[in-house]
Amino acid sequence: MMDHVSYIYDNFKRPVNSLRLQVNAICNYNCMFCHMEGTDRNLSYMTPDEIERVVRVAASFGVSRIKITGGEPLLRHDIIDIIKRIKRHVDDISMTTNGVMLHKLAYELKDAGLKRINISMHALNDNDYLKITGNTRNFRPDVIDGIKSAHLAGLEPVKVNFVVLKGINDDKINDMMDFCLENDAVLQLIEYEAPRNMENSYEYIKYHVDLRNINDDLMKKSIEYKKNTLHNRPVYSIPWKDGIVRVEVVMPMHNSDFCMHCTRLRVTADGKFKTCLLRDNDYFDIKSFDDDYLRDLYIKAVKNRIPYWR
Ligand code: SAM
Repeated sequence: MMDHVSYIYDNFKRPVNSLRLQVNAICNYNCMFCHMEGTDRNLSYMTPDEIERVVRVAASFGVSRIKITGGEPLLRHDIIDIIKRIKRHVDDISMTTNGVMLHKLAYELKDAGLKRINISMHALNDNDYLKITGNTRNFRPDVIDGIKSAHLAGLEPVKVNFVVLKGINDDKINDMMDFCLENDAVLQLIEYEAPRNMENSYEYIKYHVDLRNINDDLMKKSIEYKKNTLHNRPVYSIPWKDGIVRVEVVMPMHNSDFCMHCTRLRVTADGKFKTCLLRDNDYFDIKSFDDDYLRDLYIKAVKNRIPYWR
């Protein structure tokens, strides 16, 4: 683990201290809103060795947090090896998963070095869940088992990702707060993001909910309000039934504050630095290079970061 290293700053004074590491682009779901992180499915993925190299280089520039994502990261048969290798360089490793296979893997993931977990669950009733995930087989009970297993294994905090969709689940936020209270999870309400310049698309206009009103309402109900230290996102502690539920709100759209606090560089499954989720023209090939060359590319990629919303 590296001590006393200084971050690389982009030209907007934003340090990069974390990587969002996509480990594959395949998924056992076909979520109606999925932006696929700008990758196609016919990729040759980075090997565990190549992933370790990127993490090692990023860690040498002070990166101390890795978020593993996909596709569905738990579909990678070598995911445990990948986490063990990342752990040699970085302590704070988290993952976003649809949770379908988590009940089988939670303990192994924890032992390998995973610290925290986000589990996507965008509906509490089976019909909506199937509709949103684009599936015919209902894995929702497995996901709930996964949430329980994550706690038992000590992956903390457990966050439940909930993309708010107009006319589908936007009236279910209170139910989700009940669920998160019962399951000791943080509810993460996520604004539907337009995939790359698709803000005028039929789907986006139909399903997008501006979360500002919901955010204001939560703020009024909260007894405590903090900014998430990683992303500067609001996190509310809300008295709910017989307890307190924590709700985090992710509002990326048209939000210059969101972009100004972005400290993340993205790595695609096929081995590219990507400077922004919403940009699709800003990639740096990083596969199969040695550490020195990668260090140069890392600096170039960071210097190329431009806030999407300004
Ligand atoms: N397969 C995993 C899962 O379902 O969590 C990880 C990948 S998924 C791309 C990561 C997160 O991005 C999920 O919580 C998902 O709901 C969210 N997401 C995907 N597309 C989105 C969009 N257009 N707007 C907002 N959130 C989105």
